[in-house]
Amino acid sequence: MPVHARTCHLCEAMCGLLVTVENGRIEEIRGDDADVFSRGHVCPKGPALRELHEDPDRLRHPMRRTAGGWQEVSWDAALSEAGERLFALQREHGRDSVGLYFGNPAVHGHGIALAAQGFMRALHTRNRFDANSQDANPKLFACMAMYGDQLSLTVPDVDRTDFLLILGANPAASNGSLMSLGDVRGRLTAVRERGGRVVLIDPRRTETAAWCDEHHFIRPGGDAALLLAMHHVLFDERLACEGPLVDGTRGLADLQAIAAAFPPERVAGAVGIDAATIRALTRAFARAPRAVAYGRCGTCQNEFGATASWLIEALNVVTGNFDRAGGAMFPSPAVDLARIARKLVGNSFARWRSRVRGLPEFSGALPAAAIAEEIETPGDGQIRGFVCVAGNPVLSVPNGPRLDRALGRLEFMVAIDPYINETARHAHLVLPPTSALERSHFDLVLHGLQVRNTVRYSPPVLEPPDGALSDWDILYELGMRLGGMRLGLPVVDRAARLLWRAGLRPSADRVLDLLLRMGPLGDHFRPGHAGLSLARLREAPHGIDLGALAPSRAARVRTDDGKVDLAPDVLRGDVARVERWLGSRAAILDGPLLLIGRRHLRSNNSWMHNCHSLVKGPDRAGLRVHPDDARRLHLSDGQRVRVRSRTGAVEAQVEPSDEVMPGVVSLPHGYGHELAAATLRIAGAVPGPNVNALTDDARLDAVTGTAALNGVPVTIEPLGSPTA
Ligand code: SF4
Repeated sequence: MPVHARTCHLCEAMCGLLVTVENGRIEEIRGDDADVFSRGHVCPKGPALRELHEDPDRLRHPMRRTAGGWQEVSWDAALSEAGERLFALQREHGRDSVGLYFGNPAVHGHGIALAAQGFMRALHTRNRFDANSQDANPKLFACMAMYGDQLSLTVPDVDRTDFLLILGANPAASNGSLMSLGDVRGRLTAVRERGGRVVLIDPRRTETAAWCDEHHFIRPGGDAALLLAMHHVLFDERLACEGPLVDGTRGLADLQAIAAAFPPERVAGAVGIDAATIRALTRAFARAPRAVAYGRCGTCQNEFGATASWLIEALNVVTGNFDRAGGAMFPSPAVDLARIARKLVGNSFARWRSRVRGLPEFSGALPAAAIAEEIETPGDGQIRGFVCVAGNPVLSVPNGPRLDRALGRLEFMVAIDPYINETARHAHLVLPPTSALERSHFDLVLHGLQVRNTVRYSPPVLEPPDGALSDWDILYELGMRLGGMRLGLPVVDRAARLLWRAGLRPSADRVLDLLLRMGPLGDHFRPGHAGLSLARLREAPHGIDLGALAPSRAARVRTDDGKVDLAPDVLRGDVARVERWLGSRAAILDGPLLLIGRRHLRSNNSWMHNCHSLVKGPDRAGLRVHPDDARRLHLSDGQRVRVRSRTGAVEAQVEPSDEVMPGVVSLPHGYGHELAAATLRIAGAVPGPNVNALTDDARLDAVTGTAALNGVPVTIEPLGSPTA
């Protein structure tokens, strides 16, 4: 039986899979031991790709919403109608009358990632939104402010570090985020096996804690204050590195002056970590031969996301752990997306602001928390039409029910999605791309986040059905109908126009080949050259190992003077809010209960819950409450409760658990499937509470507008007797 090597596209871990196919059917999916990056590791979601492919609820044809329900429609009719109606809205009401949202899968494949650039330029609306404003923008912003480029993103050199400090991340469930970490368990446990130390700081003792030497609870939102205290100790105890890396920085004295106001004794009570522990942790980190701090959703999805992200990066720099083995390093991918993005998008912030609330654009996109109000509020620039690509913002943005209502008021909406999900149900047309296994795959974005330099290309495993279109094809067809796809690469754009006139489409693989060959490791079209090309990658189905991360600050630090800015103006200006937080009710022990999110290994945000193998078994959507809080509130195991916040309420089942910090409760994200129970039948049977009915679209990181999805004040009221 033919066995195809394939990279899993579902999460950032980029696991190598072996897919056995017989007579056009998938027989088995397992981990690929020969894969150069993941070394055989897979999680339960990888083998579930077969279920996803065969899911009868996955759309195979475009669907039109009619008064009588959903009806199949031809591709020609669907694309023509979508193009004409979007074009008409923009002609009558201006470019910004059509909103655009790209979900997280848009970075999980080269076809969609490339086409997205061209489509955004074709639509040319300022009302563009993406999933980065739900979690990633604080880190991107901090890197832009410090290194001069939002795609100069450091990753921890996990394979060589002696001390890994993890703040607000749960790689045991996420498999890495803004850090591609194939074989997550192997790599993290190896740190300890070679005598290193792994420390986790999180309001929940997550699955990752089992792989760590120690775990410390922290009050949600307290990361920035904790990090300021760590910087205080570094300077106060002369632990800051004074070597050549510090010489390559500016703002050191400013950072020192800022940190001086935050001794551990001042922040300890508010963050929930005692001063002696903060001091000991800082000393150990600074004295470790090679150390690196890494923060993710917990540090980004709070009201101090950008400031906390800055302070994490600065911690690595000030301790001499920047751009060196075992520290925070820049990957060197085969396709230098950062260089391309600089040309196409540039590094921009606040070039324009959202119409209603004045939230800043970042890299051409506005915070998704503003979508609902931009649809609801009349006036010039009001969103009347919407294109949602590979996303489900109804379940992923704060105050999702408000967005759900707002989408229902649109004059026209198109969803490019394989499912009629909670968001797509509002679309007038749903355009489904081919199944992932029916198209080629290359991690254009994630290769730039990997902890070891590798490169892999996967050809399609299965033939697509006649007439089916990939996400690249759909965006290209729609973009050409809206005035022309413009990828910003002159040779490609010229070819696209010529092909369009001839009734043909360019191929995403052709563009990829071009990027590989012209890339830093490419063959540059020289005959006999050993550099990379698509043909060369096809000969290496398990990938090519390009070696350990290498120092590259000269290429990656893009500030005007080539120095790392340790105290960017906009971020140091935000420290005053940390001061105010220290005196606020959110930071006191007997304040309101604070809600945090949760992720499970079997879950992939909102869109894998229609796979039976992933949702079977125990209910994973319970409300985790510390036993002390459960006693105080007279809550029992299994009891139904109503959780209420400023924006809404959900019902949930109590799970007392000392894995959460006292004063903190936790619900997983990605649930709330009762809205789409008719079209997502398995997910609809295990709908779970929508945590984003509780998260607040008014609570944002003040710098970037990123949703503060963690640390939401909530109350709990019992609904009846325990059910278990
Ligand atoms: S960890 Fe799971 S979902 Fe992520 S790439 Fe690997 S198999 Fe796929």
